[in-house]
Amino acid sequence: MSDIAILVSTRNPHKLREFREMFEGTKYRLVSIDEVPGAPEVEEDGDTFRANADKKARTLALFSGHITIADDSGIEIDALDRRPGVYSARYAGVEGPGADAANNAKMIEELTGVPDAQRTARYRCSLAVVRPDGEARYADGTCEGGIGHEARGEGGFGYDPWFLVGDGSGRTMAELSSDEKHAISHRGAATAGLLPLLDDLTGG
Ligand code: IMP
Repeated sequence: MSDIAILVSTRNPHKLREFREMFEGTKYRLVSIDEVPGAPEVEEDGDTFRANADKKARTLALFSGHITIADDSGIEIDALDRRPGVYSARYAGVEGPGADAANNAKMIEELTGVPDAQRTARYRCSLAVVRPDGEARYADGTCEGGIGHEARGEGGFGYDPWFLVGDGSGRTMAELSSDEKHAISHRGAATAGLLPLLDDLTGG
């Protein structure tokens, strides 16, 4: 078990934690980018989640010689014409520890006065896995929901305290356990789609 090393091309510790939880019990051992000395920063300048995921995985696969997976993800809010989308991480223009709070504050400000029925939203995730020889596979996932009026819950990250999951329970994504989140999330769906493709790419 856990005998095939897969590099995860992310600087986001929450994404790495979620992947480690979801890959538990598989034959893959996930390696952090922190274990790759001199790993290059990748500019996320693509127009689509898939283009950014491919670039992040491809750059690190070629640099490190490891099979590499990357995630590009974000939230689409219908009342904002599906913004922030691929710009979800830098929506408010803040980087680092304060980014999530600034992004959430901007989202709530922009949704002022928007009634519940029009606060629909979804998370999207594109995953890319790239071999050092350039061969690649992709999988996508979505998670439908809405934006609430108050932040609730301690789990997850990013927009999760405001994201009402689409099961009618009124819970936010941050109120779910990790296992519950993975069972319904965009990243969980994309990972379920990627695992057989990864087996294929690594020779079963
Ligand atoms: P990127 O994929 O590195 O461009 O960043 C994705 C951004 O989308 C994150 O910084 C979060 O703001 C948001 N995001 C992606 N997935 C999730 C999630 O599972 N929960 C909450 N926010 C997320």
